[in-house]
Parts: sequence; structure tokens; C-alpha cells
Amino acid sequence: MTNPSLLILPGDGIGPEVMAEVRKVIDWFGANGGPVFDVSEDLVGGCAYDAHGTPLHDDTMARAQEVDAVLLGAVGGPKYDSLDFSLKPERGLLRLRKEMDLYANLRPAQCFDALADFSSLKTEVVSGLDIMIVRELTSGVYFGEPRGIIEEGNERVGVNTQRYTESEIDRVARSAFELAMRRGKRLCSMEKANVMESGVLWREVVTQVGKDYPEVELSHMYADAGAMQLTRWPKQFDVIVTDNLFGDLLSDLAAMLTGSLGMLPSASLGAPMANGRPKALYEPVHGSAPDIAGQGKANPIACILSFAMALRYSFDRGEDAARVERAVETVLADGLRTADLLGEEGKAPVSTSEMGDAIVAALAKG
Ligand code: NAD
Repeated sequence: MTNPSLLILPGDGIGPEVMAEVRKVIDWFGANGGPVFDVSEDLVGGCAYDAHGTPLHDDTMARAQEVDAVLLGAVGGPKYDSLDFSLKPERGLLRLRKEMDLYANLRPAQCFDALADFSSLKTEVVSGLDIMIVRELTSGVYFGEPRGIIEEGNERVGVNTQRYTESEIDRVARSAFELAMRRGKRLCSMEKANVMESGVLWREVVTQVGKDYPEVELSHMYADAGAMQLTRWPKQFDVIVTDNLFGDLLSDLAAMLTGSLGMLPSASLGAPMANGRPKALYEPVHGSAPDIAGQGKANPIACILSFAMALRYSFDRGEDAARVERAVETVLADGLRTADLLGEEGKAPVSTSEMGDAIVAALAKG
């Protein structure tokens, strides 16, 4: 049997620095009886533009369509700010998401106990928090037509259209139910069915899909009430599914419950491939952080946790994913902090590679 394949796209800025730490984790599993991956590496973003004059070469795009999962670092940087819109590093990432048709964006909000004090909310509100937001990523008001700024009488009007087909709602709802089945079997769907027809249809379709998942307890909430509940008592949720616009807001809100940008992983999933695995792109939420790039200050945990999501959702290695998460928990409990996690005075931060090494050492201990 061939090994599962992984395409690594480190990208720009701190992308290659944090990805180097992920490679240590991948190598550790390979050398210690864990999964062995067929890993290839390629360019995306500004570095791809420098090499090929495009932020994503067609060959890289083709490779991304073939592999079992793609793991991306980050793209962008001030060097590329003056490029034409179509050549900007971010276009490479957007092309990947679009052509792979990655319609379900998974954003976990998980609070490691050692960092509970770091949250802007009270410790008891966030301690032990583990929720997952599933955001529809390829439709809704960011894509709906008509759109634009039009002349109407003697003034201009900005127009965007919220539009969802039944099949678009159905497929993202299925992704969310599947996730709920692997987790706490509770799913809360959020929309604004009180004021939006797209919300009425959303609720109907999610309810219908729910009949195929009788073990999952489904609830519905208006998205504005959902935002309040997420800050009041986030632990009431397990999985949340919502549309593109509300998901954009709610996933950022939920992510920040737990602290630093350097801690936040994500996954974007599409339709199942012939081998049953979903098309998948895993990446930290943060960008290329040009302000700290090349200084060994970046926190590699978001990228390492993105790899843990790949283990769980693409490769059915939930035990190994949990092992990575436990290793992260251990190093944080031991007091190791990269600079972004240091609130207290007088403590010396560890470097990117020291954090990676410590996580690998904790993996080895189990
Ligand atoms: P950013 O996420 O790169 O940085 C925001 C702040 O968070 C910075 O102060 C940075 O030092 C800090 N930070 C981010 N990740 C960190 C980590 N792992 N460890 C420690 N500190 C970390 O966002 P930005 O500054 O708005 O954007 C910089 C560039 O990244 C821009 O070119 C932007 O377009 C691009 N960007 C790319 C992505 C992506 O690749 N998915 C996402 C957002 C921004």
C-alpha cells in the first residue's frame, strides 16, 4: 500500500519557520511507528511569484488536487504590496481554496488550561473550552450576484446579495453533522431566519439533513444571539455551523476567546475524493507576520495543531492528533512560551525551534 500523500506549501514570512517545526513532528511520527507520509514541498504566495511570476504555478495547483491533504504556512509580505491584484500572494491561497472547492471551513476554539489566564474572559468561562465552528466558505453574500456599486437617481448604492442553494447548505450541513458525530454529538446551526429568507431555507435544509443523523442533538439559534452566547458561556456549544458571513465573524470571535493568533489552527474541507478522504487544506489562521519573520520568534503551535487536524480529519488518526495536542498542552503546562504568549514580566521567551523541539520531546514521552 502506498503512503498517504501530503503537499507542504510553507509560503512566505514566518511560514517556512513554523513549517520547519511541523516537519520535525512529521519526522518523529515516521521514525516512531506512526503514520509515514509521502511528503512533497512546493511554493505558494510571494515566493512562487519570485520564482515563476505567479503566486501559484499550475503544476502546484494540479499537485494540490492529487494529494490526500495540503498543509500551508502563510503568504504575503510588504515586498508584494504594490503588485497587481491578480498577482498578489493571497491570490495563490484563494485559487487553492476555489479550485479545490473547499466549502467547509473548520475553526476550533480550544483553550489549553495553561493559557486560560491569557483570555480576555474570566478563566472559568474559557477553561476546558473545546468548540468547533464550521463556516460555509464558498457561497453566500461574499459571492452572490448581483453585486457592485450602482447609480440610482442622484446617489450611489452598494449592493451585495446573500444567496444559498439547497445543495450548498446540504453539503456544509453534512460536514458539520459528520464532525459532531466524531465529537460531542451536538450541533447548533446559526442564521437569521427571523429576518432573512436565506436563513429560513438554511434552517429547513439543516433540519432535513439532521434526519440522517438521529444521534446528533440539533439546535438552532439566531446568529446575533449566538454571538452573545459565545461570549457569555461558550462551553454550552460543541459544533456550530453557519454561513459565510456570520461564520467569518463568529469564528474570529470564538478564536479570540482562547488567546493568541499563534495558537489557532484551521482546516478547509471539500467533497470526498475517490478514496473517501475529503479534499483538504490545513493552515494556521495567522498570516506571514513580516514584523517578526526571520527572527526565530514565531509561535509554531498554530501550524503544528493544523497538522494535528490533518491527522484527525484526512488520515483518520485521531489518537495521533490527540497525542500532538497533549504534547502542546504539556509544554505549555511546563511554562514554555514563545514571545506572543508572554504576558508576565521578566520571563524569557523560547524560540520557534525551541518550542518545536520541546513539543517533539513531549510527543516522545506520550
Ligand atoms: P499576521 O497574522 O501576519 O500578524 C498579525 C500580528 O500577529 C503580528 O504582530 C504578528 O507578529 C503576530 N503573529 C501572527 N502569527 C504569529 C505567530 N505564529 N507567532 C507569533 N506572533 C504571530 O497578520 P498581518 O500582519 O495583518 O498580515 C501580514 C501579511 O500576512 C500580509 O501580507 C497579509 O496579507 C498576510 N496574511 C496572510 C494570511 C494567510 O496566509 N492565510 C492570513 C492573514 C494575513
